[in-house]
Amino acid sequence: MRDLRVSITDRCNLRCTYCMPREAFDENHSFLPRADLLSFEEIERLARVFIQLGVQKIRLTGGEPLLRRGVERLIESLAKLHTPEGKPVEIALTTNAVLLAKKAQSLKDAGLARVTASLDGLSEETFRRMSDSDVSVKTVLDGIAAAQRVGLAPVKVNMVVKRGANDHEIIPMAEHFRNSGVVLRFIEFMDVGCTNGWRMDDVVPAREILEQINSRYPVRQVDPNYTGEVAERWHYADGSGEIGVISSVTQAFCHECTRARLSTDGKLYTCLFAATGTDLRDPLRRGANDRILANLIAGRWEQRNDRYSQLRHAATAAPGEKIEMSYIGG
Ligand code: SAM
Repeated sequence: MRDLRVSITDRCNLRCTYCMPREAFDENHSFLPRADLLSFEEIERLARVFIQLGVQKIRLTGGEPLLRRGVERLIESLAKLHTPEGKPVEIALTTNAVLLAKKAQSLKDAGLARVTASLDGLSEETFRRMSDSDVSVKTVLDGIAAAQRVGLAPVKVNMVVKRGANDHEIIPMAEHFRNSGVVLRFIEFMDVGCTNGWRMDDVVPAREILEQINSRYPVRQVDPNYTGEVAERWHYADGSGEIGVISSVTQAFCHECTRARLSTDGKLYTCLFAATGTDLRDPLRRGANDRILANLIAGRWEQRNDRYSQLRHAATAAPGEKIEMSYIGG
C-alpha cells in the first residue's frame, strides 16, 4: 500500500457523460448528506493510520474536490504528515479545473504538491458534449495555466478517450500541450460504475492512440518514475515533452496496484471496480484507537484479491453492483 485516494465529495459541477451522466445524476439524485461525509479531522486521523501502514502519497479527488469548502485547510493538515521514515507525504489533487484559476495560489500555499486536471478536448463543441455543461474550454485552460504559474508542477492533464466522441481531438490535444511542460495523459474509457453505458467498442486502445501520435510526432518509451505507476510514459523524440497512456482496459495493471481508496463516507475500497467496501467511519466515530483502525485496514488489504481489470471479460461483478467513480474517487 503506497497510495491513498480520498474522495472528499460526491458532488460535481460537471456532468461528464462517461462519469456522472445527467440522467442518473439529476435533481432527484440523492447525494450524501453532510453528516455522512468524513470531516477533515476524520480524514486526517485516518490518513495518519494509512501512512503508518505504508502510504506515501495522498490524492484528493471526488466528485469535484474543489467544491468542498475549505479544502485548503485539509491540505494544510495533510501536508504536515510524514512517513515513519521521516519523509514528507506528497499531497496531490485531481480536478476538472473549473475553479482552479481562482484557487491555485491558495492550494499551493496550503502545501499541495501537484495537480492533475481533466480535459477531454479543445473544441468548445467536444468539451460541451463530453462534460454536458456550459463551462468553456478557456476556463479549464486558465486553471491549468494558473497551476503552472504558482508551481504546482508538473501539471498533468487527463484526457479520457471515447471512440466517436473525442478521438478526433487526440492530435490537437497533443499539439497544444507539446512544449508546454504539461504531461498529457490519455486514458482508456473504463467501465466504472453502472451508469455510463460502457461498451468495449467505445474504447480506443492505448496502442492505437500511441500509433496516431507517433505517426505525427515520433515518441519513445521511458522508464516509469516508480513501480506501480499507472501511466506508461513516452517522450517526444524531438524533446518537446512527455505524454502518458493509461491502458486500464486493454493492458490491466492490477498485479502492481498499490492504491487504496477512501470513499466520501469513509469506506475503504481496494479496487476502483469494487462492489463493497470496509466501513472505517463507524469504528472511528465510536472511538476506535489507531491500533484497531490499522488492524481493520491491514486485514482488508491483506485479503484483497480484486483484479477486475484483468478479469473484466469474465464479468466479475453482477450488473448493478459496481459503485460509481464520483463516490469512490477517480
Ligand atoms: N472531478 C475531478 C476531475 O474531473 O478530474 C476528479 C474526479 S474524476 C472521477 C477523476 C478522473 O477520472 C478524471 O480525469 C476523469 O476524466 C476520469 N474518469 C471518470 N470516469 C471515467 C471512465 N469511465 N473512464 C476513464 N476515466 C474516467
